[in-house]
Amino acid sequence: MSRPLSDYEKRKQISVRGLAGVENVSDLKKNFNRHLHFTLVKDRNVATPRDYYFALAHTVRDHLVGRWIRTQQYYYEKDPKRIYYLSLEFYMGRTLQNTMVNLGLQNACDEATYQLGLDMEELQEIEEDAGLGNGGLGRLAACFLDSMASLGLAAYGYGIRYEFGIFNQKISGGWQVEEADDWLRYGNPWEKARPEYMIPVHFYGRVDHGPDGTKWIDTQVILALPYDTPIPGYRNNTVNTMRLWSARAPNEFNLKDFNVGGYIQAVLDRNLAENISRVLYPNDNFFEGKELRLKQEYFVVAATLQDIIRRFKSSKFGSRDPVRTSFEAFPDKVAIQLNDTHPSLAIPELMRVLVDTEKLDWDKAWDITVRTCAYTNHTVLPEALERWPVHLLETLLPRHLEIIYEINQRFLDRVNAMYPGDLDRLRRMSLVEEGSIKRINMAHLCIVGSHVINGVARIHSDILKKTVFKDFYELEPHKFQNKTNGITPRRWLVLCNPGLAEVIAERIGEEYISDLDHLKKLLAFVDDEGFIRDVAKIKQENKLKFAAYLEEEYKVKINPNSLFDVQVKRIHEYKRQLLNCLHVITLYNRIKKEPNQYFVPRTVMIGGKAAPGYHMAKMIIKLVTAIGDVINNDPVIGDRLKMIFLENYRVSLAEKVVPAADLSEQISTAGTEASGTGNMKFMLNGALTIGTMDGANVEMAEEAGEENFFIFGMRVEDVEEMDRKGYCAKDYYDRIPELRQVIDQLSSGFFSPKQPELFKDIVNMLMNNDRFKVFADYEAYIKCQENVSALYRNTKEWTKKVIKNIATSGKFSSDRTITQYAREIWGVEPTRHKIPAPDDPRE
Ligand SMILES: *Cc1c(COP(=O)(O)O)cnc(C)c1O
Repeated sequence: MSRPLSDYEKRKQISVRGLAGVENVSDLKKNFNRHLHFTLVKDRNVATPRDYYFALAHTVRDHLVGRWIRTQQYYYEKDPKRIYYLSLEFYMGRTLQNTMVNLGLQNACDEATYQLGLDMEELQEIEEDAGLGNGGLGRLAACFLDSMASLGLAAYGYGIRYEFGIFNQKISGGWQVEEADDWLRYGNPWEKARPEYMIPVHFYGRVDHGPDGTKWIDTQVILALPYDTPIPGYRNNTVNTMRLWSARAPNEFNLKDFNVGGYIQAVLDRNLAENISRVLYPNDNFFEGKELRLKQEYFVVAATLQDIIRRFKSSKFGSRDPVRTSFEAFPDKVAIQLNDTHPSLAIPELMRVLVDTEKLDWDKAWDITVRTCAYTNHTVLPEALERWPVHLLETLLPRHLEIIYEINQRFLDRVNAMYPGDLDRLRRMSLVEEGSIKRINMAHLCIVGSHVINGVARIHSDILKKTVFKDFYELEPHKFQNKTNGITPRRWLVLCNPGLAEVIAERIGEEYISDLDHLKKLLAFVDDEGFIRDVAKIKQENKLKFAAYLEEEYKVKINPNSLFDVQVKRIHEYKRQLLNCLHVITLYNRIKKEPNQYFVPRTVMIGGKAAPGYHMAKMIIKLVTAIGDVINNDPVIGDRLKMIFLENYRVSLAEKVVPAADLSEQISTAGTEASGTGNMKFMLNGALTIGTMDGANVEMAEEAGEENFFIFGMRVEDVEEMDRKGYCAKDYYDRIPELRQVIDQLSSGFFSPKQPELFKDIVNMLMNNDRFKVFADYEAYIKCQENVSALYRNTKEWTKKVIKNIATSGKFSSDRTITQYAREIWGVEPTRHKIPAPDDPRE
């Protein structure tokens, strides 16, 4: 087995990292020292590693500035259609290395830090993740920003600058403990506050229908302070903007009518107003109807729409015509993409501005709104769909509630005209749900108020049309589209797996980095001994490096020659981490039964955060650690089987574990995972997938060829049929002895000897109340895992399948996804045309 390359060796050989020209390197060193002195106010005697990180970050940031200003100036001059991606989450991760990759500065910076006697990887590890997201939805937004910039679109990400991102997960006694994510503590060198563009946002108050129009009055005002982060495209000199809003109390906040002693309290109460942008709600695929969350959703929408309209009016185009005619052009100059229903208030808010402020008539305003907005649906799970109680909207946003009612009235009139007297249809399609608590169905609002609605994988988009939004599809079939998700190959290959990126570039050049379909050319190398060896060698190096990381950080030793079997994603019943657990226990029982049989060694790693209020998810984490405690310390097992819980799974940990994985677990119940994007990261990085026919797995298997994919279990149709006939877990328990043994062990406290009852909730759920039918796929899963192990014994055949997977993963670039959004929803054309670079050699 070969040792990992040293950094120095990598520096010499790697071409995808950009050039390390002598002038480049000496300038970088000079600027690094300048920032250490003038920005950090330190010299090398007293500088800490963090000072060095910040000096490097500022040095790299300088290279963005000229490009950023020029790009925005270019947009002003050319006035292209602007694309606004509205999202409550942007799961960005770290920025330093991504900036170096996209600017082609990586090699030069490596060399500069090396010559300065600093360790680049150590500096990069100091950067906090920008964890402003929960999982797939937030990470998708981040990948989209990278692709939109790389494709030269005049795009903006708009969201909230949470002071606390997704919590840090600690494991204590096998349980998850949440810790606040104070990511801004040491400052954020990548953002620029823009107090000059502060915007007022109104809440509460009442509606006055006076003779000169409708007015929303007596409101409370909170200010939205924008922070801009540059989003560089891949080597095209484009730098777009992500603008995140922070809540500020106005200086006169609560001071209007204070009495003696009220002043201090009034100043202290400013915190209440500023709580709006304090913390990210940590739920993945779950709706929690809290007022503060509703405030966040309106806050981002109201500030963003004012910004959009201000930019439209001040654009060359918008300012030429009088307001009334210029708004006719609004949908030609502006596209608003709603990332799930979280920013759905954009629809009534745009109506409010156009009707109440700009005095357009309703029909004109509605036409503009619908043609401007488009909605992406991310889930069909009922518990995830936003249905806001009317009483919350009534007090917080009274005018918006009126507008929603008006939208609903006009919509139901249309439906009634199409299907006269079909009262049940009217009830099903209404934006307003009657019941003990009256609610607004935000997905219905989005469908009615958008010109396009899309799902995020083919199977998911089909399910939307066939089931959840069937009535809406019947009414307006032309609105429904599919946009299969993707990931950016810059972060998810070039950045996280430079070894693989390089051996690919050696065979097919570097063009694949901005046009991932070029990976197809690797099919010519499937039988190439040299390439097979290189791919296997890189994987082994990545595994050794990850094993070293686990040992260093967590003091756990794993066998780097074992099969790395990885399931990392938010912990959720529908994702079926429990099915994985049942497999691990089954393997354990098999080894114990026949300890002298040969066994393909496996290290099973499960990682992910549980929403703090999700009891079952937290129990699943405890179960994984409890299984590990038994298995990992059993001398009969040795290093043939290990179960590791990967603590605090986040973007920067994904960048480490994905390149080291042999097997990717994508085992959700068919019909429940909308797309998944973790699945794509693994495919691109040379893991094979064991998965159900769910989400994007379906299209991944289609691209790779089913013979190169480990597909198992029920299809959507099977699940539907089982729902009709009824799922009975007990039948499987009675029929399958190995399953029965596993469940009996869980029930009897085999994995929790000090608390035999500990896992009774899990067993009870699996036996009596399992919405996700774990037992129904158990046998097929175990069988499929046997095929995985058998193939793994033949490194060459395994690696050939790996190469076929990498070669056919091109479809899952977010560049392809964004190109389709651009052409089929936004009506703009992507380009790899380069904006001219700035003259300053530093830039
Ligand atoms: C990609 C990613 C996800 C999404 O993973 P799925 O397996 O698609 O759910 C979640 N969290 C992080 C940190 C990611 O990078």
